[in-house]
Amino acid sequence: MASSKMKPVDKLWIDGKLVPYAEGQVHVLTHTLHYGLGAFEGIRCYKRADGRGAVFRLVDHIDRLFESCHICTIDVPYTRAELVQACLETLRGNKMVEAYLRPIAFIGSGGGFGLGSLDNPTRVAIVAYEWGAYLGDEGLKNGIRAKVSSYTRGGLNSSMAKGKICGQYVNSVLAKREAMKAGYEEAILLDHSGHVAEASGENLFMVRRGVLKTPPLASPILDGITRDTVLTLAHELGLEVQQTPFSRDELYTAEEVFLTGTAAEITPVREIDDRAIGTGKRGALTDKIQNAFFELVKGKKGQETSPHPSWLSYV
Ligand code: PMP
Repeated sequence: MASSKMKPVDKLWIDGKLVPYAEGQVHVLTHTLHYGLGAFEGIRCYKRADGRGAVFRLVDHIDRLFESCHICTIDVPYTRAELVQACLETLRGNKMVEAYLRPIAFIGSGGGFGLGSLDNPTRVAIVAYEWGAYLGDEGLKNGIRAKVSSYTRGGLNSSMAKGKICGQYVNSVLAKREAMKAGYEEAILLDHSGHVAEASGENLFMVRRGVLKTPPLASPILDGITRDTVLTLAHELGLEVQQTPFSRDELYTAEEVFLTGTAAEITPVREIDDRAIGTGKRGALTDKIQNAFFELVKGKKGQETSPHPSWLSYV
């Protein structure tokens, strides 16, 4: 398992400017700290084959941050273009060409403290840090062991799954902790109808009877940017993908299962609830999609242009 301990960097961006890392402090009466109404993103910048750093789908991530804030009724005090530039500035300020970026919009302190207080400032911070394979290099290569969680995802009208909303992550963190304490690496959550939703911080795909399937967006799942990238890659590779609900037992009897996320990238799942998935190794289709994904985000030696230039924001 990759260490989750963060190495401090030189600078972070908060309230409109780059400041020394140690100045990224908030007051204990920060509204979001207590009630969870806030939104964040997870974005990766890759060092490409030509040595340059490029953030993958930065504009889409910032768009989703604004969507999450819109769901939360939070007015972001910056434009999308300003936050795109702020992410790039944070990388440049730390001389980083490969990093995980964490922008967060939150409700600060200084106004009222009740649930309904509307007079606190909205603040935005962006931190860049080094983060290797989220589910480990071994997991990327040979697959991870996952557990179907005792926690349910969603409730379409109680949690707003299309938002990457701070407080909603309690559900994911409980599921993740439960899975890890039981000796698994990741939790898979079902929705209220019993259909497979997603993992604690990833979307899920499976291959069953040769067909690639993923739950539809009408399920209580995040509209993952890596999910969307995989749908595009699958289309380009000539693979049929069905966005359709499926059950836990279909998952057990799948030939291949993999998870997609900015942090986890494309991680094969080799075992679920102590049942081997397919051959118990990374499957052929997962391998194909994983290779296509890494070629897309990191580029290829000798390849000058990307097939999706608008997905890259150079540092
Ligand atoms: N689902 C959840 C609950 C997540 O937290 C994430 C990570 N952002 C994902 C799916 C994958 O989304 P993305 O590919 O945009 O990182």
